Amino acid sequence: MSADYRPETICIQSGWKPGKGEPRVLPIYQSTTFKYENSDQMGRLFDLEDAGYFYTRLQNPTNDAVASKITELEGGIAGMLTSSGQAANYYAIFNICEAGDHFICSNSIYGGTFNLFGTTMKKQGISCTFIDPDASSEEIEAAFQPNTKAVFAETISNPSLVVLDIERFADIAHKHGVPLIIDNTFATPINCRPFEWGADIVTHSTTKYMDGHAMSVGGAIIDSGNFDWMAHKDKFPGLTTPDESYHGLIYAEKFGKMAFIQKATAQLMRDLGSIQSPQNAFLLNVGLETLHLRMPRHCENALKVSEYLEKHEKVAWVNYAGLKSNKYHTLAEKYMPNGTCGVISFGLKGGRDVSIQFMDQLKLAAIVTHVADARTCVLHPASHTHRQMTDEQLIEAGVAPDLIRFSVGIENADDIIADLEQALAAI
Ligand SMILES: *Cc1c(COP(=O)(O)O)cnc(C)c1O
Repeated sequence: MSADYRPETICIQSGWKPGKGEPRVLPIYQSTTFKYENSDQMGRLFDLEDAGYFYTRLQNPTNDAVASKITELEGGIAGMLTSSGQAANYYAIFNICEAGDHFICSNSIYGGTFNLFGTTMKKQGISCTFIDPDASSEEIEAAFQPNTKAVFAETISNPSLVVLDIERFADIAHKHGVPLIIDNTFATPINCRPFEWGADIVTHSTTKYMDGHAMSVGGAIIDSGNFDWMAHKDKFPGLTTPDESYHGLIYAEKFGKMAFIQKATAQLMRDLGSIQSPQNAFLLNVGLETLHLRMPRHCENALKVSEYLEKHEKVAWVNYAGLKSNKYHTLAEKYMPNGTCGVISFGLKGGRDVSIQFMDQLKLAAIVTHVADARTCVLHPASHTHRQMTDEQLIEAGVAPDLIRFSVGIENADDIIADLEQALAAI
C-alpha cells in the first residue's frame, strides 16, 4: 500500500491486499500449518533463508496483514502481533535485554507493566530503574548504568495520564546509545505517532482502542527501523553476534533494519509462543477499520465530561490533558494536537470512600477492569488494577488513592454526563 495514504485510508484499506478472485475481506487463516512441495523448501524456511509461513506460532497471514496495517499507521517498517499488550512489552524489552542487563522506565505506567518490569523480569536477572517522567534530564541521565539497554515510557500513562515529552526522552536515550521504546496504547497512531518524535520502537495493547469493542486481548510491536544496532554492537549482542539456535546467523547483518522484529519473531515467538490467535487478529482488524472515527469522538466526549466535572462542587480534582488548566496541556498540544484519548481521572471531595460510593451509583458507566473501548466504563485503580501497590507506590506512580479512572465511551456525551450527575447527587 502506498505510504502516501492518510491514516483514515490506511485504517480501511491497508493490511490485506487481495489478488484476483481472493476474498475482499481479510480471511481468518485458521490453520496451524502451511504446505510445501518438497523438503528443501521447508528446510530453507527453518534456516530463515526464505520468507514464508510454516507454523502459526511464528507467523500467520491473518496476523501479518493486521500487523502491517498497524505498522503503516505508526509509520514504521516492520511489526508483529502478540497475544497481549503484556507480551508486547515483555518481548520489546527481552529482545534486547538479557540477564545482567538494565533498563530505565518511567514510573508512570500501567500497573501490569510495573509488575512485569519491577518484579517478574527482576527474577530473570533484568533490572529496571523507575524514574519520574517529569524529572530533569540530568536526573534521568543519572539513572544510566554501563549495562543500560533501553528507555521505556507511555505516551499517555495509564491511569495517571501523564503526557510524555517524547522528544526529550528520545534525545536522552540516544545520547546514551540505547533505543526509546514507547507504549502508545492510549494515544493510538491516530492521535500520536511517536516515531515522528524520535522513538525507536512502539508497543500497543491492541486490547484497548484499536480493538475498541472489548472483544479480544492482543498486543503489537512496531519498529521504526531507525535504531542502528551495529553502531552499538557491544550493547546488543543478541542482534549483533551469532544466534546459535539459527546456525550462527547474525540478525543485524542478515536483516538490517528489519532485525528487531525478525529476531522477536524467529527467536522469541518461536521459544515463548505468545502468538495472537488469527481469530482475534480478525476482530482487531474490524476494530482498526473505525479507529479514525472513534478516537475523535472519544476525545470530544472526554473533554465535555471533564469540563462538566471540573465545575462540579463535589469534585476535588480532574485530570485530563485536554483541559486548558491541565499540567500537561502544553505537551499534549505539541504531541497530540487533535486530542489525547478518552480516559480521564478525577477524585471526589471526601476521598477514597466517597469515590467508591459514587462508583456504585453509576448506571450507564459500568465497573469493569477494561478501559479504552466504545462503552463508558469506570474503575478505582487503588482497589482494582493497582491493588498490589502500597499507598506510597501508588502516589509515586501518580495514582492517588482516591483516583477514579473514567473511560469515556462514544455514546452521547449528555447521557454520560446525566449518569455522572445522578451519581454525584446521590452521595
Ligand atoms: C492494558 C495495557 C497494557 C497491557 O495490555 P493487555 O492487552 O491487557 O495485556 C499495557 N500497556 C498499557 C498502557 C495498557 O493500557
